[in-house]
Amino acid sequence: MQKLEIPKEGVFYKCPYCDYKNADKKAVLKHIKSKHQEELKKEAEKMNKKKQQQKQNREMIEYKDYMYLFAHKKKCLIILEDGTTIKGLVKAKDRYTIMVLDSDYIPKGFDKPPRRIILHKGHIVSVIPLEEESKKEKEENKNENKNENN
Ligand SMILES: [Zn+2]
Repeated sequence: MQKLEIPKEGVFYKCPYCDYKNADKKAVLKHIKSKHQEELKKEAEKMNKKKQQQKQNREMIEYKDYMYLFAHKKKCLIILEDGTTIKGLVKAKDRYTIMVLDSDYIPKGFDKPPRRIILHKGHIVSVIPLEEESKKEKEENKNENKNENN
């Protein structure tokens, strides 16, 4: 059984589901187990849902890790969930954070961009490698030029 919180009122432990009180914590636990199976089941379901949510978040981070593979050691545009955009050289750091070197981002209290900043992946919405973008642009321009020549 998951850990159950039993509120205390003075010298009494109180059942969280009804008015039952007892100075003996074990008696309250016994009471809960015998009288409140339904509530306990619901509590367990809630815990399971929470665990599922955590699993989904983990999978999301793993998906993002894939995204960082492409961004590693590249100059990127990083978009945060609050709308902040940061341009800088991305270096994958660990499961939860990335390091951005030589960015254009000036945090509050700084008068110039710090040499490196650490970003939590949870706050990052998107990472777009800029070098690839500009390469693509160049190629597109080339194609356009070719078309013009034709
Ligand atoms: Zn009760």
